[in-house]
Amino acid sequence: MMNVINVKKSYGHGPSKVEVLKGINLKIASGETLALVGKSGSGKSTLLSLMAGLDQMETGEIWIQGKCLNQLSENELTLFRAKNMGIVFQQFHLVSTLTAFENVILPLNLLKDPNAKVIANKLIDHVGLSHRSHHLPSELSGGECQRVAIARALSTSPKILFADEPSGNLDEETGAKVMDLLFKMVGETGTTMVLVTHDPDLAKRCSRIIHLEHGSLV
Ligand code: ADP
Ligand code: MG
Repeated sequence: MMNVINVKKSYGHGPSKVEVLKGINLKIASGETLALVGKSGSGKSTLLSLMAGLDQMETGEIWIQGKCLNQLSENELTLFRAKNMGIVFQQFHLVSTLTAFENVILPLNLLKDPNAKVIANKLIDHVGLSHRSHHLPSELSGGECQRVAIARALSTSPKILFADEPSGNLDEETGAKVMDLLFKMVGETGTTMVLVTHDPDLAKRCSRIIHLEHGSLV
């Protein structure tokens, strides 16, 4: 379902140029859960951003569901992302002025889903936050915020979920609960997932583990 072909990315130029990704090749099959591991600074977040179409690569191609991300216009890419991808970040990235419910319904409204309200309520319920539905992110704990972010990411039934250290900002116990929830929901829906993590135990719960080292997959 996803094909990453010879993707290169560097930051800066001249003597301060850093080659972060030196030609990444990767195929991901539908339904796979992939753990992307590697040292801090090895380029995991950079690769995930490129795969999610959030950043521009230097050379290479990324294909998802038969579409080449590089060939889409900005508008096409926005729509393609909304339809096909869900993203969960370490820092939650909720819209601070919207309630939990409004955050979850946002992508559904973007796609003009006629069942938006029903789906959003169901998901809020699924992540155990019905009683916090009308609260703002500032009124929620870190774990609750990440549960909202997971509900939002899965609200549109994406083909693929990208998660960048989703428990990285949470204490151990809360993080473990959030990850259990994420794996449960991904398992139930058969969603393909790319999970960035430095936790070997979390990586082992995925169907495949890939290591990023010195800009290459090993
Ligand atoms: P990881 O997620 O594995 O910790 P990142 O993908 O965040 O690694 O970063 C990889 C390397 O690229 C690091 O050396 C980082 O400093 C550098 N980097 C990331 N983003 C930028 C940027 N916007 N500008 C310059 N350098 C960056
Ligand atoms: Mg990172």
